Amino acid sequence: MQTVTLNNGVEMPLLGFGVYQIDDEDVCEESVYNALMEGYHLIDKAAVYENEEAVGRAIKRSGVPREGIFITTKLWIQDAGYESAKKAFETSLRKLQLDYLDLYLIHMPFGDVYGSWRAMEELYREGKIKAIGVSNFLNDRLIDLIVHHEIVPAVNQVETHVFTQQVENAQFMKVHDVQIESWGPFAEGKNNIFNNGTLVSIAEKHHKSVAQVALRWLMQRGIVAIPKSVHKERIIENFNIFNFELSEEDMQKIATLDTKESLILSLHEPENVAHLSKMTFHD
Ligand code: NAP
Repeated sequence: MQTVTLNNGVEMPLLGFGVYQIDDEDVCEESVYNALMEGYHLIDKAAVYENEEAVGRAIKRSGVPREGIFITTKLWIQDAGYESAKKAFETSLRKLQLDYLDLYLIHMPFGDVYGSWRAMEELYREGKIKAIGVSNFLNDRLIDLIVHHEIVPAVNQVETHVFTQQVENAQFMKVHDVQIESWGPFAEGKNNIFNNGTLVSIAEKHHKSVAQVALRWLMQRGIVAIPKSVHKERIIENFNIFNFELSEEDMQKIATLDTKESLILSLHEPENVAHLSKMTFHD
């Protein structure tokens, strides 16, 4: 599996598996198990997805050694702040049946982000987390966190797909040594992505699927991707992307699909911020 080297030297797989919107515990466990069996080493989840126990069970059942798996989870807004973040971290660890995390992210740039980051810096220094980072941080939030703290986030996980390409933001992250990670690599199926004419013609040329082209495009840009599927055949398909290469011309054609706007979740909209901040879950 190809990896990227994070700003603290930790190796992170370039391709992984995401578990957002897999509400059924059994389906979640089976999907993660299938992904691990297929060879995925990176599993992306979050406390707010409320399926940490199922992920933990799948990891146990897979028999894959702990050091062979890269586990990311995320701190939700309701747990922002120094004390709450420490407690939420321990809860996630317990639910996942793990004794350390590979990557812990602040899920959203809202609430007491400073307190959370101080707690995460401490947990990192204690060796309980191999790398710490953020998600959904626009550049102004990211630079604010960077200049006021000692540890630079290793990763920023943001909406990134063919319709929201994040070209300038990716460049900003690169300059600041923050690895960009894509969430929603298939735009969650929006915009009729799987039937997009440009992508279909490129896929046919390479005898691949649109999903594989969408992922391959991210890989060639050096962007970590964590596609989600509950179907075993798609889990296999999404992993089978390292035996072909998009040409410069393919990459240029895909570049024209960029809308430069968020398709799924705009964090510029006050109503989205208010809505997300009210979302809670129970331990
Ligand atoms: P996504 O991966 O872009 O799209 C998932 C959708 O694509 C599902 O409907 C899935 O259907 C379908 N699909 C998967 N493989 C396919 C294939 N080969 N052909 C056709 N359809 C396919 O969306 P996502 O789950 O939102 O994003 C991926 C991960 O990013 C999440 O699971 C989560 O870990 C993370 N994420 C993070 C944030 C954040 O705020 N940080 C937000 C959203 C997501 P089936 O399952 O039915 O196959």
